[in-house]
Amino acid sequence: IGLFHELLDIPENYKIIFLGGGASTQFFEVPANFLNTKAGYVNTGVWSKKAIKEAKRYGEVELLASSEDRNFTYIPKGFAIPSDLDYVHITSNNTIYGTEYWKFPKVNVPLICDMSSDILSRDIDFGQFDMIWAGIQKNLGAAGVALAILKRSLLATARTDIPEFLQYQTFVKKDSTFNTPPVFCIYSLNRMLHWIKNMGGLPAIEERNKVKARLIYDVIDTSDGFYKGHAEKEARSRMNVTFNLANAEMEADFVAKAKANDFIGVKGHRLVGGLRVSLYNAVTPEAAEALADFMKEYMRVNG
Ligand code: PLP
Repeated sequence: IGLFHELLDIPENYKIIFLGGGASTQFFEVPANFLNTKAGYVNTGVWSKKAIKEAKRYGEVELLASSEDRNFTYIPKGFAIPSDLDYVHITSNNTIYGTEYWKFPKVNVPLICDMSSDILSRDIDFGQFDMIWAGIQKNLGAAGVALAILKRSLLATARTDIPEFLQYQTFVKKDSTFNTPPVFCIYSLNRMLHWIKNMGGLPAIEERNKVKARLIYDVIDTSDGFYKGHAEKEARSRMNVTFNLANAEMEADFVAKAKANDFIGVKGHRLVGGLRVSLYNAVTPEAAEALADFMKEYMRVNG
């Protein structure tokens, strides 16, 4: 917890807790604690939709903006935010569509963000959020734990008439040990935080992630349309690079040839198809460079 405060430069008026059960638990735990009447949600893809679906069980959901009209290729901007909302919920990185917020909305109600797939990948002002939650398995450790960073002022408004296990306050009061914690996951998280610190903290990690993403996007941008990037340029994710080839057969061929060259997991999410390269913190710049070389060679042979 101390390392978190240090690395993220999070002030003392925030509480950090670990919650078992993975990230999806937060789709319902957030509204269970904070949705009294109406909350605002932004729909930028599959994970936002899941958050919206669960929130509707607890109260009214106002859809503030959505990028569904253009197949989630962009991040909506400049939408109105009513002041009578219990909170606004956004998804900072859209793992499946490969878009990421580069500027967060300014709000005068609590801002809650699902940062599952880009937490600790970049150096941002965490103080602009009232709550950040994230599954730790992408950038920080093993699957099974969600992490929540909550501002005390928001915590003070959390409901106390829901099961104790669902109350954030319970885990704050018990230092995340209300029940047996997933110790190994938390241990792996601790090792990752030390690794990030030793690498030079978030500024160094961000620089490393920029280099990796640039290597792959450069291949796409100089391929003369052979590789077709999914996300609009200004919304491109540094964590998940999504793209297509001319047709599904060619994409299947790319996946097979990539695998034969030891690049696994380049197939897009089953819901959207296409191709996706994930560049989480654990991916080295050398690995990104090797994949960029493979992509160039594949284009030379098949282009
Ligand atoms: N939110 C985002 C942005 C995700 O990318 C994911 C998983 O990929 C989840 C939530 C759900 O994570 P979990 O499988 O731990 O429930």
